[in-house]
Amino acid sequence: MTQARTLHHRRTTCRGCGATTLAPFLDLGRQALANALLRSPDEFANEQRFPLEVVLCTECGLVQLVDVIDPSVLFSNYLYVTGTSDTMQVHNEEYAKTICELLGLGPNDLVVEAASNDGSLLKKFLARGVRVLGVEPATNIAASANAAGVRTVNEFFGPETARALRAQYGAAAAVIANNVLAHVDEPVKFLAAARAFLRPGGLVSVEAPYIEEFVEHNEYDTVYHEHLCYFSISALLVIAERAGLRLVRIDRKPVHGGSIRMYAKSADDVREHAPAVLDLARAERGKGYTSLARMQTLAKASAKQRADLVALLKKLKSEGKTLGAYGAPAKGNTLLQYCGIGTDLVPFTVDKSPLKVGLFTPGMHLPVFHADELAKRRPDYCLILAWNFADEIMRQQSQYRELGGRFIVPIPSPRIV
Ligand SMILES: [Zn+2]
Repeated sequence: MTQARTLHHRRTTCRGCGATTLAPFLDLGRQALANALLRSPDEFANEQRFPLEVVLCTECGLVQLVDVIDPSVLFSNYLYVTGTSDTMQVHNEEYAKTICELLGLGPNDLVVEAASNDGSLLKKFLARGVRVLGVEPATNIAASANAAGVRTVNEFFGPETARALRAQYGAAAAVIANNVLAHVDEPVKFLAAARAFLRPGGLVSVEAPYIEEFVEHNEYDTVYHEHLCYFSISALLVIAERAGLRLVRIDRKPVHGGSIRMYAKSADDVREHAPAVLDLARAERGKGYTSLARMQTLAKASAKQRADLVALLKKLKSEGKTLGAYGAPAKGNTLLQYCGIGTDLVPFTVDKSPLKVGLFTPGMHLPVFHADELAKRRPDYCLILAWNFADEIMRQQSQYRELGGRFIVPIPSPRIV
């Protein structure tokens, strides 16, 4: 929960290649921080809002934000806890298995995870008998990871932390960083720190939302202040190279609305990027993922989605239907704020995370109730803000459905299911 501290700056250079050729294409307006839920209505008046605009570097093709909020404001009491979702449990199990098999890991090997959250992924390595170390900047979440038996230091991962931890715990067989590279203002330095932590032959594995879904499925709601980069493989190649890494493999993953997992090795170990990775980069350039014209088309589609969704909700309301929402994820808060959907249209949302229940969504101030409240309050329609978990949510909320409730999936364009 963010205190009223103005720690915002606007950068003028590309965080991938350093060029100044930054072309704006999507303006989401001034928004409250998407993860800064509020404790009470007393906090509404002092809530801070910041510009939220997406630009493309026409030099290297990296899609990114230029407005940077101090990470100590954004992440010191972060509410996203990975362990809450069943989908992520399955994903984490596969992740640990893949890395362990790839490197042949055993009890003498160390796996480090930057931004390890509640330790959900590292637990899967522990279960396979591998040593682990989590590095997590959110104090409350690092504490809960330690309490759950996952050794975790409460730090931001970066060059100094990596050096100190390597001296204390030894070199890492693997450094993992999931859903964090897009959140750091200096991704080149971050990856260089990960590389410096590795033992010879070690692996850096990074998972990040992939730009394909952002572009093809109109996922403008994945834009929020924490999420500074929207990676294409082409742009990642530039960043990795400047960090002294070579990409050896890319996997596609269905999590978080579509992600890529990149596997990288030090340039000391591997001289060239894998040809298959270079082929993927070529193919995506052909699809326009580094093109300004393509991004401008996306911006038009976002404006249309907003108009369609607001028209649908207003129509339902005018017909006397009641509305609610499911989830209070960052993406939902971007969507609500961009579309201007407040409690007059959607009076509440529900969430499975106990950390969010009882709070209010940033910007639009929807109260967040426990997930069980959906079937109790039984609105005629439920807008799924956490639409990337739509299938799971609809399964879990079968009772609400049996009582006649209907769901609205908002992205890529609103539809009733
Ligand atoms: Zn660039």
